[in-house]
Amino acid sequence: MAKQYDEGMLSDMLPIYYSRHFPQSLFCRWLSCGNYPQPLANRELSFTLADDVYLRYLSISNQKELQTLFQKKCPHKLDIGPVYNIKPSIGRHDAIVLARELVFDIDLTDYDEIRTCCQEANVCDKCWRFMVIACEVINTALKEDFGFQNILWVFSGRRGIHCWVSDHDARTLDSPGRTAVADYLCLITGGDNQNKKVNLVGDNLHSSIRRSINIIDKYFNIIVQEQEFFSTKEGLSKLLRVIPDETLRKQTEETLDKLAPSSLERWEAFIQIYNQFCKHNNVRKIKYLIEEIKIQYCYPRLDVHVTKGFNHLLKSPFSIHPKTGKVSVVFKPENINSMKLDSVPTIHTLLDDSAKENTQHEANMRTAIKSFQEVVFLLEKTEALRRKTETSISLDF
Ligand SMILES: [Zn+2]
Repeated sequence: MAKQYDEGMLSDMLPIYYSRHFPQSLFCRWLSCGNYPQPLANRELSFTLADDVYLRYLSISNQKELQTLFQKKCPHKLDIGPVYNIKPSIGRHDAIVLARELVFDIDLTDYDEIRTCCQEANVCDKCWRFMVIACEVINTALKEDFGFQNILWVFSGRRGIHCWVSDHDARTLDSPGRTAVADYLCLITGGDNQNKKVNLVGDNLHSSIRRSINIIDKYFNIIVQEQEFFSTKEGLSKLLRVIPDETLRKQTEETLDKLAPSSLERWEAFIQIYNQFCKHNNVRKIKYLIEEIKIQYCYPRLDVHVTKGFNHLLKSPFSIHPKTGKVSVVFKPENINSMKLDSVPTIHTLLDDSAKENTQHEANMRTAIKSFQEVVFLLEKTEALRRKTETSISLDF
C-alpha cells in the first residue's frame, strides 16, 4: 500500500531526491547553453525554502556547487531566471539581462470557463486533452513558423505544461520580439464578460490558423463528448451567445433545444443548420464561425505575460511540486497523448522501494531524463555549429 503524500516530509525527502534522482549534470549543461552569451555562473536560480523564505539571485558555476547549494538550502521550490551580464549574486539589482529562453506557460485554470470536468486546482485525464492540443499546436508553430528546434516540454507538476525554447535567436529575443511571438500565438481574446472571444477575418485563413484547426479537428469530437460542452442548458446558451447573427441563433436554439442532450449530436445538428443558413444568406460576418467556435473551445490559452517577460522566473524541470509531490518531468511532445497523470513519478514513490508504483515511476523517471538528455545534446550540437559558423564568418572579413 502506497503511503499518502505528506508535504511535511519534504524536508527529509528532498536532500535524497536531489542527490539520487535529480539530473544535476544535464541540468547544468542545459542551463549553460554552450556558455554563450555568458557562462553558467551568470544565470539566476531562485529557491523557496520550507518556511516560505524566498531566495533570489543565486548562482552556480558547476554541478559541484549545485549539489552543495541543494544540500545546504534544500529548496522546496526551484525556479530559473535569466542570464545576466555579471554574476547575479554579486550584481543583484544592477545586473542587466542578456538572455533568457523563450518560455510558454499553459495552465488548466485558464480553461475553467470551458472545461466542465474539473475546476481550479483539480485536473483529470479528460481535461488533460486540452494540454495535448496546446502542446501540439504550439510545438508545431514554433518549429514550422519560427524555425526553432531546441524545444523542451515540461509538466508543471500539477495542472499544466511549460515550454522552453533555447535556440540562440529565441534566447536573445528582445521584449518587443517576445510580445510579437506571444500575440501571434494568441487567438483567444477578451475577459469573462466577452462571449465571442475569437474573430477571424480575411478572404482566406492564415496557414498557421488552418493548421491549428486541423490539429484541433483530430480531437474535437472526442472533447465535445468528454466535456459535454453543449448538453446542459448553460452549455447550450454559451454556444448561442457566440452566434452573432440573430436569425441563425434563433434557428439553432429552436432545433437544439428539442434534441436529446447529447453534446455531439447537438454540435453536428448545429453544423447542418449553419451550412443551410449560409446557402441562403450573406455570410460575411459568420464566414468562419465554425472555426471560431473550435478555437474558442480548444485552442491553447497561453499565460502571455510569462512569454512577454524577459526576466520571468519559471519552475525548473525535475523540481518537485510541493502540493502534489509530483516531479516536473520532461516529456516528448509526440508522447503527451499517452501521458497519464497517475504515472507521473512522485518524490515519495521514487524514494520508497516498497511502494506499489515504485517500479513504474522509476521507469518513467528514466524516460523523462532520457528525453531531457536528447534535448540537451541537440542544444549543445546546435550551439557548437552556430559558434563555428559565426567564427568562420568573422574570419572571412
Ligand atoms: Zn478534468
